[in-house]
Amino acid sequence: MSYLVLKDINKIYPNGYHAVHNFNLDIEKGEFIVFVGPSGCGKSTTLRMIAGLEDISSGDFLIDGKRANEWGPQQREIAMVFQSYALYPQMTVFDNIAFGLTLAGVDEDVIEERVKNTARILGLTDYLDRLPRALSGGQRQRVAIGRAIIRKVGIFLMDEPLSNLDAKQRVTMRSEIAQIHQETGATTIYVTHDQTEAMTLADRIVVMKDGYVQQIGTPYELYYKPENVFVAGFIGEPPMNFVTGIVKDGKIPFGKNQLDVAKKLGQKAAEYEGEKIVLGFRPEAIELGEIEDACHVEADVELTEMLGDNTNVYITAGEEKAILKVDPHDTPEMDSTITFSIPYESIYLFDGETEAVIS
Ligand code: ADP
Repeated sequence: MSYLVLKDINKIYPNGYHAVHNFNLDIEKGEFIVFVGPSGCGKSTTLRMIAGLEDISSGDFLIDGKRANEWGPQQREIAMVFQSYALYPQMTVFDNIAFGLTLAGVDEDVIEERVKNTARILGLTDYLDRLPRALSGGQRQRVAIGRAIIRKVGIFLMDEPLSNLDAKQRVTMRSEIAQIHQETGATTIYVTHDQTEAMTLADRIVVMKDGYVQQIGTPYELYYKPENVFVAGFIGEPPMNFVTGIVKDGKIPFGKNQLDVAKKLGQKAAEYEGEKIVLGFRPEAIELGEIEDACHVEADVELTEMLGDNTNVYITAGEEKAILKVDPHDTPEMDSTITFSIPYESIYLFDGETEAVIS
């Protein structure tokens, strides 16, 4: 059995709000799991139920095969890092990191050795005598992480730990968190609304929306095999382009172009004739010009953004808009008309009613 099991977990707050619906997830020992989704989708609520800070309304939570619903946070042997660092301002970095061990009455020699080792992992060795106010935001967050990992617990929970940092610090800390996970091997559950953080850190990602799990998978699976329109649009930057239309003679209109969806639908083509369908294609999945085995689209260039390694091209086709990612050397002129191809293999089709993927 998996190390952590969440089975049909629900959270209904005392005011009646149903924040988490039938959450199911098995987590293996040492896995790095990321909960991602827009603000208010139930990520923190789920994490807090795992931490024992919030009651589980129904369902089973198992740690190492034992039902832990009623266990207190201490008994769960979980360490948690929050968005706010919550350091003790009057204590040095050393004492902040050592705090949990001191409280537990651990031997001073052992504390000293473990604090030094933790500080080394986190690059804080030269700052142990400082007070938190003499540290940068990134360093403070490292102290908070140090305080958590020094306890050598098996389960490590992080709730938006990077959101108080600036963009550059976030990138640095992101790779440090990945390294810390490598070194400690702790089972980690990490909450973020940032899909880049999710994609770069996770072994597996849980995408949530409105209290419901939308999909669970590796970063690769979520990017290449999204199960619905929401996941397809949430993972990837710029997001996937969508064209919605009623299928007529196996095609849907995109401006004055006709996109052949029947080819992709195969045997289901008849079933979808006259039905609403959503066609998705990623900005980076197109080719300029006309290639074989592709839908061809004529479009007007509204705006181009040269970003160095690629250019984002904002196009319109009739009323529809889309973003294309092209090689900067191929950047089209503003206000020009271009033709591009969407290879059939890069087209996603979703049911217009359920928004679930068809093919
Ligand atoms: P996220 O972490 O994804 O931003 P949360 O888990 O914090 O979302 O919240 C999920 C939903 O539950 C939100 O709509 C939020 O307003 C609601 N919520 C959170 N805490 C409480 C509470 N104590 N009582 C009632 N509703 C709450």
